[in-house]
Order: sequence, then C-alpha cells, then structure tokens
Amino acid sequence: MSIAVVEVNRKSILANIEFFREKSPDVTLMAVVKANAYGHGMEGVAQLLDDKVDYFGVARVSEAVTLRQVGIRSPIVLLEGFFPHDDINDLLDFNLQPVIHSSWQIDVLNTIPFPNEIVAWFKIDTGMHRLGFHFDEAISEFNRLASCKAIRQPINIISHFSSADELSSSQTNKQIAQFDKFINSIDSNLIGGQQSIAASGGILAWPDSHRNMVRIGIALYGVSPFNDAVADLQPAMTLKSELISVRKHKKGETVGYGQTWTSHHDTMLGVAAIGYGDGYPRSIPENTPVSINGRLVPIVGRVSMDMIVVDLGHDCHDKPGDEVILWGKELPVEQIAKHTGISAYELLTRLTSRAKIRYK
Ligand code: PLP
Repeated sequence: MSIAVVEVNRKSILANIEFFREKSPDVTLMAVVKANAYGHGMEGVAQLLDDKVDYFGVARVSEAVTLRQVGIRSPIVLLEGFFPHDDINDLLDFNLQPVIHSSWQIDVLNTIPFPNEIVAWFKIDTGMHRLGFHFDEAISEFNRLASCKAIRQPINIISHFSSADELSSSQTNKQIAQFDKFINSIDSNLIGGQQSIAASGGILAWPDSHRNMVRIGIALYGVSPFNDAVADLQPAMTLKSELISVRKHKKGETVGYGQTWTSHHDTMLGVAAIGYGDGYPRSIPENTPVSINGRLVPIVGRVSMDMIVVDLGHDCHDKPGDEVILWGKELPVEQIAKHTGISAYELLTRLTSRAKIRYK
C-alpha cells in the first residue's frame, strides 16, 4: 500500500523528556500536545507520557476533552483559556485548568457557585502583546480572580516569550524582568503555585527563565525552536512514503502542473505517493531534497495533491516500493524548513489525517 506515513519513535520522545529532566531536575514539566502533538498524534503521545510529565498543555477545550476521553489523568492546562462559546461545565466535568487572560473570563468564573473547583493560571503579558493582562491592570485583575469563589488557591502564573529564539535580543531579558516585577507586586500569601514563562526556546537558551515550571512543545519532539537542529535532541518523527513509479524522462521534457521544470539531461524520474493532501506543502520549492536509499535527490516540478516527482538521475537503481523520506533523523525537518522558508512548527502541524501515524 503506497501511503504517506508519519513514523513516530516513542524512544526519542522519552529520551527528550529525560534530557530535560536532567537539565532542570527541580522544575515541573508540561508537555505541550496541542495541534495533534505537533503532528505526532495527540492521544498516542499523551498516553506515552501520562506518568512521565506533570502537566499537558493544549489550546482548545475539545483537545482536552479528547485527552480525558482516552484516559489521560494528568492535569491539563488550556493554554488559551476557555472561549466565549465554550461550555464552562466542561472545565468542571473534565477537571481542566484554564489560563485566564481576559477580564470577561473572570466574569464567567464568578458565575460558578461551587467553591474551590477550578485551578487557574493567570496570564501576565510581559511583551508578547497577544494574550494576557497588561501590567497596569494585572494586579487588580489578579486580586479579582483570587476572590472568585470557584477558584482554588494558589493561582499559577504564566507568560510567554515573543523572541526566545533570538539569542541576541534584549526582549527576553525584559520579559523576565517584567514577570518577576509582577510576582513581587502581588500579595505573597497568594503565590506558591507554578510560575512559568519558558517554552522550548527559553528552556534551551535562557536557563535563568525556568522558574519552577517549563512548557516543552517542539523540543519534546526533538525539533529545534531555532534555525538549526540541536544536537542533544532526538527527532521523533520520520515522514515517509514510497516510490510508486520510476520512469524514463528525456532531456527537454517538462514535469507536472504548469510545466515549471524542464530537464537538462536524460534522466529517471521517481514519483512518490505524498502530496499536499497529506500536508506536504504545495509551496515546497523545486530542489527541496528527499532521501531515497540513503542519498538525497531533488524534487522537480510542483508538489501535487497526492504525489511529488523527484529526479533520480540517469543511472539510478531505485525502484517502485522503495522508501522515500521527506524528513527524519537523516534529513532534519529544520533543514527542510530552512530550504523552504516554512517553519518547522508549520511543517509538522500541517500534516493531515491521511498521513497515517505509526508508533514504533
Ligand atoms: N506555551 C504556550 C503558551 C504556547 O503558545 C506554546 C506554543 O505555541 C508553547 C508553550 C510551546 O512552545 P514551543 O513549541 O516553542 O515549545
């Protein structure tokens, strides 16, 4: 059967967890499994890690509910809180922990009559300027949240870096200072929970930012948040397919939709069964490498919905059924990101359900 396969190596994910545990032994660890665990399969990854991490982080209530329905017992944090249309009962029924970033959410929580039901995370905007309370209003809003009957003490505190991948930027230090300033400004009786500002970039490059909790997204899967691969991490995903055709191609003939590529030599073309219908982006440019039988060969012509074409060269020995690796250990997704200008985050999370996930 010729299909696109997302092969996920469980041992690599466990090794990455081990690496972070050793790096920051006294720090609580959240595995960020939103967006289908960055393409690695949310349920499978969460089941693997349920007794190995302290928290899971997701973006949507629906993701959290799915995790509970497959038996996940660890605390689950809703990193974007709950949305205006969400059923607030889900928070109670599935024991979910919302990030509170806006005043309207505190109004909603104030309508819950049950005491001490909800563990909340207060989001302070330290410079991302996306979600979170601005410093000017943060202390009064924090106190308002703390006085909600439904909220259990202590309230955890969270923020997010905008530029932790830019090692020379002063922004990250400014955000750390702002985070500390906020914590020092609130009533010390109300502190005592988790304090977290670092995601993968912060964990790897800003050791002063770890506080008592880190949130690991992309690095959990062995992929770097920076431009280049990080040697200590083990990439968990191999995206692969196989050749379904190997055919002669004459000098001067074009390939694919729009005839965008013309061969300058007689050659052999391979057709692999993966395309943008599987999440391999249509905008991937010609010359992007794939690995076949241990050698890198270039994509020629446009990526189609179900296929790509590669130039195997005139004296190739490749044949239908041979494995085609789009990215993996031997061809890091960071390299594809650099080549294509599409971030590794996006390459991973674009994969569609037609690309079957297989754990090994
Ligand atoms: N925390 C929050 C609030 C996020 O939005 C994200 C990712 O988008 C993460 C943590 C994980 O980030 P990373 O994948 O860079 O580790």
